Amino acid sequence: MNENDSIQLSNLLIQKLNIEPTKTLSDADIVIINTCSVREKPEHKVFSEIGRFAKIKSGRDIILGVIGCVAQEYGQKIFSKTSLVDFVAGTHNIHLIPDMISDVLKNRKGIANIAFYDKIESLNIATSPYDDYGVKAYVSIMQGCENFCSYCIVPFVRGKEYSRKSHDIYNEILRLVQMGVKEVTLLGQNVNSYGKKSSTEISFPELLYKISEIKGLDRIRFTTSHPKDFGDDLVYAIKNIDKVCNQVHLPIQSGSNKILKLMKRGYSREDYLDKFYKLKDNIVDIRITTDFIVGFPYETEEDFQDTIKILNEVKYISSFSFKYSPRPFSDNSEIDTVDDSIKRKRLKILQDLQKSITLQYNKDSVGKIFDILVDSSSKKSQEELSGRSYDNRIVNFKGDTSLLGKFVKVKITQAFQNSLRGELL
Ligand code: SAH
Ligand code: SF4
Repeated sequence: MNENDSIQLSNLLIQKLNIEPTKTLSDADIVIINTCSVREKPEHKVFSEIGRFAKIKSGRDIILGVIGCVAQEYGQKIFSKTSLVDFVAGTHNIHLIPDMISDVLKNRKGIANIAFYDKIESLNIATSPYDDYGVKAYVSIMQGCENFCSYCIVPFVRGKEYSRKSHDIYNEILRLVQMGVKEVTLLGQNVNSYGKKSSTEISFPELLYKISEIKGLDRIRFTTSHPKDFGDDLVYAIKNIDKVCNQVHLPIQSGSNKILKLMKRGYSREDYLDKFYKLKDNIVDIRITTDFIVGFPYETEEDFQDTIKILNEVKYISSFSFKYSPRPFSDNSEIDTVDDSIKRKRLKILQDLQKSITLQYNKDSVGKIFDILVDSSSKKSQEELSGRSYDNRIVNFKGDTSLLGKFVKVKITQAFQNSLRGELL
């Protein structure tokens, strides 16, 4: 989501201020740091990044802006933490940044805009492909979140849940496809609740059917699906629509019912497994990925073993896993009971197990043939191409650069931990 915000902002700045992107930081006159506050570590990193500008700014007249979730969280307070920042724009204020930069140029005074708006269609005005060959794009279909999981800062920094109009989404994808895009990833904190707050809007599975009619669009991905709102209609949409990749990111967070309840996730491990088996039994070669939090307050060894059991049962093809990090505003902002050394130990056990499961998937793929959307060539050798399979694995192979941006068939010959190697058919 942040990546997409950065893409949109850079397009917007190019359009409105008639400026150009630079290759290196030292050439830039305007530098904008887009930030994440979902855990403490990336938040700290923002302030060390800003600190790096002390030297760069002293010799030159650079405008420095901070945007995104940390900007939203701190607002004006950033100016009291550092004098290096010229403007601060919150998550709903990207469209104002060109004007903010003009104001800074005139007045050289720090400006902060962190207001929330109910409707933020204005954020979705300048999406473009994110890959070098213009074949893949992100499309935000909704903003914000109102689930208030007890550990999470997102509802406080991204605001209320708001679904964009389906015809605007459709038109945006149509425009992207006309530009050459073949694959879109629909974005939302919980895409399964798309349209649910409106009596006139279609549901998420209906949205998938609608956009799948767009000619020239070959692949549809989406993230993130919240398990509590994952219904049978979505299982059948994935099964029935060829363009929708048979891959679902379904964050479980923990395998322990006690912890899931404390997290306020709204499902039990049994509910989750029911949905998993619905997917597995209905869709051939479905691939599931997930997110885990380890060391959540009051997580015992037994709770952690429940998480390990889920990983062994579902056999996620890959997962993101994090140590619990207390976040301001959330219910649990003051609670952090599990020792860091235990968190670290559990994270390592879980990540080692995940690595072995991922490697097994990769080994099992040797000899199989995949449709690959070619999205890059190696910097070292022009003949080395790379692309992604339907389940988003990286596949490297030898081929001509004329294949960039196209679909090709590749037979897998070698398996590694983080990628596959194959031969062009
Ligand atoms: N909306 C998505 C998640 C968005 S945040 C969902 O509900 O699935 C991305 C991931 O960051 C979460 O799935 C969770 O695993 C992790 N995360 C969020 N808050 C966290 C915290 N306080 N500590 C550690 N990990 C956290
Ligand atoms: Fe955070 Fe929960 Fe919303 Fe996901 S669903 S963004 S974890 S509050």
